[in-house]
Amino acid sequence: MNLKNKPALIFYLLSVLFFCKSQLLLAQWVDHDFPIMGTKVTIRFWLDNEEKAKLAKEAVIAEMHRINNTMSPYISDSLLSAINTSAAKAPLKISDELFGLIERSIKISKMTQGAFDITFSSVGYLYDYRLKQKPSTEQLEKTLPLINYQAIKLDKKNNSIFFAQSGVKIDLGGIAKGLAVDNSINILKGFGVQEASVTAGGDTYVLGDNNGKMWQIGIRHPRAESKLISILPLADAAVSTSGDYERFFIEDGKRYHHILNPKTGKSVSSVQSVTIIADNSTLADALSTSVFVLGVEQGLKLVESLNNVSAIIVDNKGKMFYSADLAEL
Ligand code: ADP
Ligand code: MG
Repeated sequence: MNLKNKPALIFYLLSVLFFCKSQLLLAQWVDHDFPIMGTKVTIRFWLDNEEKAKLAKEAVIAEMHRINNTMSPYISDSLLSAINTSAAKAPLKISDELFGLIERSIKISKMTQGAFDITFSSVGYLYDYRLKQKPSTEQLEKTLPLINYQAIKLDKKNNSIFFAQSGVKIDLGGIAKGLAVDNSINILKGFGVQEASVTAGGDTYVLGDNNGKMWQIGIRHPRAESKLISILPLADAAVSTSGDYERFFIEDGKRYHHILNPKTGKSVSSVQSVTIIADNSTLADALSTSVFVLGVEQGLKLVESLNNVSAIIVDNKGKMFYSADLAEL
């Protein structure tokens, strides 16, 4: 460019200025939240293109709806409902995705000596925490033998599922939100996102960092909603908290909540909350529910036996326990 040509120079500088300004306007943090799966989903990510950011946000919302429509026990035409109505009559062919998630759930059942068991729902469906309903003693006696993950027969060749006992029901509430978070993070990565946080209820994954700093993930006090018991600085990690305060009612001084011991069909009362940190949300979600059922001692033993998994447990007296790696800090 001829620098003596003043109008050309001015035009050039103005173009550079306009380009920089438009880039600044387009690069943005996207924040969005919406209710789904009986809980709140919150997404936050950075993308340098407004149009792409809008598409990325819409893709995550669509994925959450897709998973809910497939896996909700409350939607009568969901694939999960179809399994519960017909898998005890004859083997039912299901999607690769659902087959894989049920297979993964059974692996976690084996790893936790049955503390995690998606057939908890054979009894669990008799609870309605909003209506303060729980199974009667007779109902519990009748349905308890139906909590048995070994009654789920998966046929890999045909991608089918069969229940060896009639009356068995499954529910993926202890693992599906983790999957939804992992899938959402993968979708965002596909759009070129490098910094994001996706939360569904108690399950969060943080991708990269937050404006050059670690993400700060607060763990709420199980008995005081506005208080935090801990703030975890994290990047590229999954955090999942299971608490007895999420869905519950109190009757005669007793707390009836949504995490059931598969051996008794009753709410677990030895702990108030369990937080798991792991490298993916599907595992962290299932483990927070599992460790909740296992309790402090057995739960920590399981966590210590796994690579890259940490835990914070609050017992029923409010005392906090940490896995060895966190206790060191
Ligand atoms: P949420 O984020 O919904 O509170 P949690 O990770 O705490 O989820 O898991 C609780 C959910 O797990 C329950 O709502 C129920 O759907 C399911 N669940 C309850 N008990 C068990 C169990 N023993 N094994 C597997 N899933 C369970
Ligand atoms: Mg969980």
